[in-house]
Amino acid sequence: MDSQQFREYGKAAIDFIADFYDNIREKDVLPSVEPGYLIKKLPEDAPEEPEDWKAVFKDFTDNIVPGVTRWQSPQFHAYYPTGTSFASIVGSLLCDGLGVVGITWMASPACTELEVVTMNWFGKLLGLPEEFLNSSPGPGGGVIQGSASEATLVCLLAAKDKMIRRLQKLNPDLDEDLTKIKFVAYTSDQCNSSVEKSGVLGSMKMRLLKADSSGRLRGETLKRAFEEDKAKGLIPCYVVANLGTTGTCAFDPLYELGPVCQKNDVWLHVDAAYAGAAFICPEYRHLMKGVEYADSFDINAHKWLLVNFDCSAMWVKDGYDLINAFDVQRIYLEDVKGDLKIPDYRHWQMPLGRRFRSLKLWSVLKIYGAEGLRRHIRGQISLAQHFTKLVQADNRFIVEPEPAMGLVCFRLVEGDYLTKKLLENLIEKKQIFMVGASCKGRFIIRMVICSQFTTVQDVEVSWKLVKDEADNIVNSDRL
Ligand code: PLP
Repeated sequence: MDSQQFREYGKAAIDFIADFYDNIREKDVLPSVEPGYLIKKLPEDAPEEPEDWKAVFKDFTDNIVPGVTRWQSPQFHAYYPTGTSFASIVGSLLCDGLGVVGITWMASPACTELEVVTMNWFGKLLGLPEEFLNSSPGPGGGVIQGSASEATLVCLLAAKDKMIRRLQKLNPDLDEDLTKIKFVAYTSDQCNSSVEKSGVLGSMKMRLLKADSSGRLRGETLKRAFEEDKAKGLIPCYVVANLGTTGTCAFDPLYELGPVCQKNDVWLHVDAAYAGAAFICPEYRHLMKGVEYADSFDINAHKWLLVNFDCSAMWVKDGYDLINAFDVQRIYLEDVKGDLKIPDYRHWQMPLGRRFRSLKLWSVLKIYGAEGLRRHIRGQISLAQHFTKLVQADNRFIVEPEPAMGLVCFRLVEGDYLTKKLLENLIEKKQIFMVGASCKGRFIIRMVICSQFTTVQDVEVSWKLVKDEADNIVNSDRL
């Protein structure tokens, strides 16, 4: 493929994407395909001979697109949003177009430095304490990870290293291997699966402590767990607090957990993957009260902030905690002597290679501006409030718990069986997509405002789909 063909193929792709979004309401949110549909359709071996881009593109539109779930459909209300925007798509294109890997500063100075700048911008927009920022006099700073899962694991591994160093200072004869197996991590039983998985991957026992009736991990619960474990000779090492749990968007009180961690020299990581985006609006910052106790903090810009996957923004108060844990040198990686202000980001993450991910964050921050992003967040929350009112006006439904951010959880008064049936039937019809969760032992349906294209009318369409299906099942159950 030469540059002329690239121009043609690229333009066709851009037109396709623009049309895809212009017509996003025309197709069902869930595709009408059976498992294995594409594997059966495509040849078993890669083509021997090159194909013309037009044939390749036709293969894409005819075979691949029909199996795509429309995450950006206004009737996609499952999980949490995955961000996209034209600004971010162009940022991704430029990243791929430049084709650089930022393993050291010299490997692409702009790749390192734009990440420093955008992470300072972003951290300030969120109102994070200064110590987290590279622009502060201290050793703090931000880095873009691929996912919140990676951020949780990176910090778990760094916490492990930091704890061993601390204990070795107190006792230079300490047996590292025998000590590490005593380390324990803690989070709430409402945590995202990735938090529990970080314990599996990082070989640290992870205790899922019982959240209170509002889904929050309380300071007293954490304190008791530390005491129990210390009495058994174990060593509390790492805590993951959740700001916006995946099930019901509950917020752990950092101001309770923080002092418990601080007193015990335990690393506190904050997983604010979805809801943290709302902190760009000052009226939601009270939900991160106590953030000054955190050692690390992570938000997925690729969830609610219109940036395409993958862009997980992670800040630490002390970059040396990462460098001490992950610095592995080779001659071929020697670079101009950087310091923390121009970080060697390869020490801040798991892989060696790193993409120029800051380009899409930078593009979104510039094209929307802080005010544009705040409008987006506030608009989505007000759409969720509109949906809440529609559900509450129908006495067959209960909204529970209290809606938070863009998430509304609800169930049928008639009980779990019919609530599950309602969700199953809706999914089967493919016009709307939501997933279930549990709250206080009851099955609930989670409805999240996900798409940036969602309007009040779209929310009303979603409600009508739910209401009509409820009419069907509640009536048929009574027959
Ligand atoms: N944490 C929370 C609260 C989440 O809701 C999610 C995903 O929905 C994650 C972590 C995992 O995010 P990622 O896919 O970026 O690893």
